[in-house]
Amino acid sequence: MFPGKIECKSCGYLGIAEIYGRPDTLVDGAFRNLGHNPYTGDLRFQCPSCHTELIISPMEALDRNITTVMGFPDPHVSSMDDISQGLNRIGMAVWGFIILMAVNILIVIAKMR
Ligand SMILES: [Zn+2]
Repeated sequence: MFPGKIECKSCGYLGIAEIYGRPDTLVDGAFRNLGHNPYTGDLRFQCPSCHTELIISPMEALDRNITTVMGFPDPHVSSMDDISQGLNRIGMAVWGFIILMAVNILIVIAKMR
């Protein structure tokens, strides 16, 4: 199904795509097959050069007239990073609050003595 090559839009690397059941494509320097997005149908590959996760349009991949398909950095990956960073920040704020409350409680206990 994948006749051509992939060009990484992140770093410009050009290489073949890893295809399940095709051992000749399981080589160093091939774009690693990460499966597909079940919601959009996009194919997902990892660039062997810059390790960016790329998404490839299934329509482009199936078009036999296209010999080189463009792999674009997956926007979901970076947004997931943003979400986890946001959660980390919330976690820090919660811990800061808990520590502050614990210190206040210790001060109150110390004054009661
Ligand atoms: Zn790349």
